[in-house]
Amino acid sequence: MRAFDFVAADSASAARTLVREVPGARFYAGGTTLVDLMKADVEQPARVVDISRLPLTAIERRGEVVRIGALARNSDAAYDPLIAGNFPAVAQALLSGASGQIRNAATIGGNLLQRTRCTYFRETRWRCNKREPGSGCDALDGFNRGHAVLGTSEACIATYPGDLAVALVALDAHVVIEGEQGERTVALVDFYRLPGDRPDRETALEFGELITAVELRIEPLHARSSYLKVRDRASYEFALVSVACALRTDGDRIAEARLALGGVATVPWRASAAEGALTGAAAGEAAYRTAAEAALEGARTRPHNAFKVELARRAIVRALRTTAGRGAA
Ligand code: SF4
Repeated sequence: MRAFDFVAADSASAARTLVREVPGARFYAGGTTLVDLMKADVEQPARVVDISRLPLTAIERRGEVVRIGALARNSDAAYDPLIAGNFPAVAQALLSGASGQIRNAATIGGNLLQRTRCTYFRETRWRCNKREPGSGCDALDGFNRGHAVLGTSEACIATYPGDLAVALVALDAHVVIEGEQGERTVALVDFYRLPGDRPDRETALEFGELITAVELRIEPLHARSSYLKVRDRASYEFALVSVACALRTDGDRIAEARLALGGVATVPWRASAAEGALTGAAAGEAAYRTAAEAALEGARTRPHNAFKVELARRAIVRALRTTAGRGAA
């Protein structure tokens, strides 16, 4: 690990100033991603600005919107009645991530910014366009079992690793960002950038901007949501495939559907074509299978990750069946 300045900020504005003063400086909240990457020499900030004591931990209702402070701990958010009651997919996604100790340290804002678990990204001896733009990608012809099949490019096939963002994308969450021009709000589905030829640019955040909150709208549809995670072991493991979905039925027809995938794409993947296939269809296996086919259309596989396509189809059908069975009415 290299030497760096560590300074604590006493306000969001001061934190942004402290970061902007030093190119490449980083905010520090829970540290559950950043510290690992600094130890591995993947991230080399000359300054780290501690924002962990800023008053951004509240989870509160404002009219029909629930606002989660960016520094709320994952475990606190997961068990908060406003989250568990109105957005079960979000609570389930939070509890499926990492370990109890890490959930107690990790923050909502930091969780959204976690970086890929691609081995070649995290080991500096390998070529990686995300770590070093233009250097190449050793995952393309390497061991790519965990890599993405949707949203990939010739430059990068790394999977977005998180759970929370998948549930939030399915439920149309927005992220609140504070910057030089004041506050702006971005739909989370637009927050993440596809890798294209610049996989190092992962989000819509500009240097020095700070996530201050996540907002979710209270709707009957969102209360009828769930999150399914398929992984190699039952705990402390990233998703091979995950599915966040919500269903609202009218009689035996599906009136509204939301579907997003994790573990298979370079960003939290909103499956809009699948939602279109579900809406208006008779609730049941046939519709779920059609949606699953639609969700994986256009998937591009590599030698070791082709299994994810069928695994994702099956996970989608199971998640929709389970959600419908929990009273999607
Ligand atoms: Fe780097 Fe992306 Fe290639 Fe992994 S898949 S080595 S993150 S460029």
